[in-house]
Amino acid sequence: SSSTTTDADSNNSTENTIDPPPPKDEMEFQAETRQLLDIVTHSLYTDKEVFLRELVSNASDALEKLRHIQATGTLSGATTSTSAENDDVPLEIRITTDEASNTLTITDTGIGMTKSEMISNLGTIARSGSKAFVEGMKIKKALDDASDLDPFGQGIIGKFGVGFYSGFMVADQVDVRSMSAGKVADDDATISTDDHHHHHRAFVWESTGTGKYSISPLSPDIRQDRGTSVVLHLKPEMAHFSCESTVESILKKYSNFVGFPIFLNGNRV
Ligand code: ADP
Ligand code: MG
Repeated sequence: SSSTTTDADSNNSTENTIDPPPPKDEMEFQAETRQLLDIVTHSLYTDKEVFLRELVSNASDALEKLRHIQATGTLSGATTSTSAENDDVPLEIRITTDEASNTLTITDTGIGMTKSEMISNLGTIARSGSKAFVEGMKIKKALDDASDLDPFGQGIIGKFGVGFYSGFMVADQVDVRSMSAGKVADDDATISTDDHHHHHRAFVWESTGTGKYSISPLSPDIRQDRGTSVVLHLKPEMAHFSCESTVESILKKYSNFVGFPIFLNGNRV
C-alpha cells in the first residue's frame, strides 16, 4: 500500500541547476488508523490537553528504552553500536513553544526511530488499546449513528489513551523528526539520487492526519540529535497551546511523575 513519488514530476522542471529534493515516500495509513484519526480529529472531546501527556509519555518511554540499552549494552537488531547510542547527549525532554509560527515541539533524546520504525509505529495501530478503541467505536456507531460526536461521550479518549494520534486533536499537521540511536539498516538509510549516494540517519514523517503520510530524509540544515522531535502545527483555534504559560501549567500537573528532566523553552519545569 505504498508508492514512491519523486518530486521531479510535480514541479520545478525548469530548474536543472538545483539539486533535486530527496525522494519523498508517500504512504497511506492503515484503514484502522484512518478511522482512529478521523475520530480523534473530529472529536468534540473537550479535554484536549491530554495530547501533551501522551507525547511526553512517549518521549519518556523512548528515553527509558535508550537507558536500558545503555545499561545493558544491547541494541536489538544491531550488532554494532554507533556513537549515537552512547554519546554524551543527556537523557531529557525539551519542549519549545513558538507563538509566531503557532507550533509546539516535543523533543526527546531517546532511542529514536528508523524509517521502517516510523512506518510500523506511526502508520499502523500496533497498540491493543487503540485497536479496541476502533473496534468499540465501530460497534457503537452501528448501534446509534453518533457520527461526528464523540461516540462514547466525554472521556473516552482520555480513558483509552489514543497515544501519538492525540496530537491531531490540536494540530492540523504533525512532523516527526527522528534519528535512531541504533545502527540503521542499509536499505533503510541509503538514498540514491542522480549524483548523490547518501547514508541518511535522520528522517521526517509528515502528515495532516487525513489518510496519508510521507517520510523523507531530514534536510541537512535541520539539526537532529539522537532521538525524536514531534512538531505540532497547531490548529488556529488551538493557538493557546503555543503559549508558554499554558503549556507550563499543563506540564506541572504531571511532570513530577516523569522520570526524566523536562525543559520548557530552556527552563527546567
Ligand atoms: P504506545 O505509546 O502505547 O505504544 P503511541 O500511539 O503513543 O502508543 O505510540 C506509538 C508508537 O510510536 C510507540 O510505541 C513508539 O514505538 C513510537 N513512538 C512514538 N513516539 C515516539 C518517540 N518520541 N520516540 C520513539 N518512538 C516513538
Ligand atoms: Mg504512547
